[in-house]
Amino acid sequence: MVLNVAVIGSGFGGLGTAIRLKAAGVGNFALFERADDIGGTWRDNTYPGCRCDVSSNLYSFSFAPNPRWSNTYSYQPEILAYLHDVATTHNLRGLIKFNHDVTDISFDVSTNLWHLTTSEGEFQARTVVIAAGGLAEPRMPDIEGIGTFTGPIMHTAKWDHSLDLTGKRVGVIGTGASAIQVVPQIAPIVGSLAVFQRTPSWVMPHLGHDVRRRSMRLFKTLPLAQRLVRALGYWQRELLVLGFVKNPQRMTKGEQMSRDHLARQIEDPNLRERLTPSYRLGCKRVLISNDYYPAFNRDNVTLITDAIERIEPHGIRTKDDTLHELDVIIAATGFYVTDNPIGQKVHGVNGEQLGEAFRGEAANYKGTMFPNFPNFFMLGGPNTALGHSSIIFMHESQLHYIVKAIKFALLRGARIEPSAQAAQKWTKELQEKLPGTVWGTGCASWYLNEQGKNTTIWPDFTFKFRQETKLFDESDHEITV
Ligand code: NAP
Repeated sequence: MVLNVAVIGSGFGGLGTAIRLKAAGVGNFALFERADDIGGTWRDNTYPGCRCDVSSNLYSFSFAPNPRWSNTYSYQPEILAYLHDVATTHNLRGLIKFNHDVTDISFDVSTNLWHLTTSEGEFQARTVVIAAGGLAEPRMPDIEGIGTFTGPIMHTAKWDHSLDLTGKRVGVIGTGASAIQVVPQIAPIVGSLAVFQRTPSWVMPHLGHDVRRRSMRLFKTLPLAQRLVRALGYWQRELLVLGFVKNPQRMTKGEQMSRDHLARQIEDPNLRERLTPSYRLGCKRVLISNDYYPAFNRDNVTLITDAIERIEPHGIRTKDDTLHELDVIIAATGFYVTDNPIGQKVHGVNGEQLGEAFRGEAANYKGTMFPNFPNFFMLGGPNTALGHSSIIFMHESQLHYIVKAIKFALLRGARIEPSAQAAQKWTKELQEKLPGTVWGTGCASWYLNEQGKNTTIWPDFTFKFRQETKLFDESDHEITV
């Protein structure tokens, strides 16, 4: 049977797509999930302290508010439980093909169908939605000798809960969003903790707090109250665009707040100095934590700022020729983002890889569609991620467009793809906005591709993206019936 839609992934993006397709009356579709459960990155990241740095009222579907969030910034187990609730409420599990690892998605010009190769067999679909997630493929550090270490090495996104860290000599590589959450959690139980920092992060005070029972009851009985809280959070975050995008000089105020936060928590001026970034706040992701800096005040935690030379059988050797002896190494080293491996698995009309477009070497349309990839859509495509707000808002915007386009294609039996002209215009205008933004102020970050081009972040207010994706614009597409 030929599917109307093949959706790849069952995290926030995949589940959101399924709900929107159902609501629009599109039937005969399936979600392909490589694991045996839903949840995407929120299923995979189970390291101690894993938590979302966007408030839960905003980091959730607009059409599925959760009045029971127990903290304003939820921890991973509660976010995963939320996704399970959503899947149950919307009766989605029967639509998901679990343990189906998609290895190839190619367009067949003779049938105008997408051909999917999976670990469980072959499938055909009229349209495809990739919802595989931008933070789905953990990146191990490319450090000489990594294979020679005799103890366990684990990535934060593949936490081994059977590994007892009690009393062990542990090294954490990286000081990004994952590291700052895991370090304070494991510091009290390990014997010693060496944190290997290549670049310090800007860290702001965390404003998260437990939600009172009274508020939960209010949100349940009066959903409008929760919608207002969500709206307030949304607009507060949109104001950040004035600094991130319009005038990065404005970030100096935030930098001072972060320096004050550091000064309040770390007394040692030398340590403070080594923890202070030298790039503009916002150029890399801004982090929030109240317990990261204090972890360095513990006797068993050491900040290592000498660069790593190599990994040896018994530890990590730094460039000053010190061997830091370790029992366990934790790689908090992020994900393949601009070079997400999903890009290598998708092939368009001429056999070209999606990866080229995704890396920013070819044009895309609204971060969602690509010339030569007919009836094909990507959630979290080029320049749709955010440094200041909730990615779920962007996904929902994309879904407005995607569902309209899919209905258009299915009803007419049409093949639709953005015209090269429309895609070039979109990509050019977007790239022209980027140099003046905070992400172009000269730091290395995972927002940039190998050529230093930002192919990840949306450089504007998110409501502008919502406007851009509201309607399916026939005139921007090549339509073959
Ligand atoms: P990340 O932000 O990419 O941080 C990776 C860290 O590893 C950086 O400090 C990086 O140093 C370091 N690193 C990478 N390779 C290295 C090497 N070879 N040698 C030494 N250091 C190396 O990754 P992440 O912390 O997993 O976070 C990724 C994204 O996931 C976040 O930005 C966020 O969007 C999301 N996330 C969110 C939360 C949350 O909501 N709180 C939590 C976790 C993750 P450099 O800075 O020098 O490159």
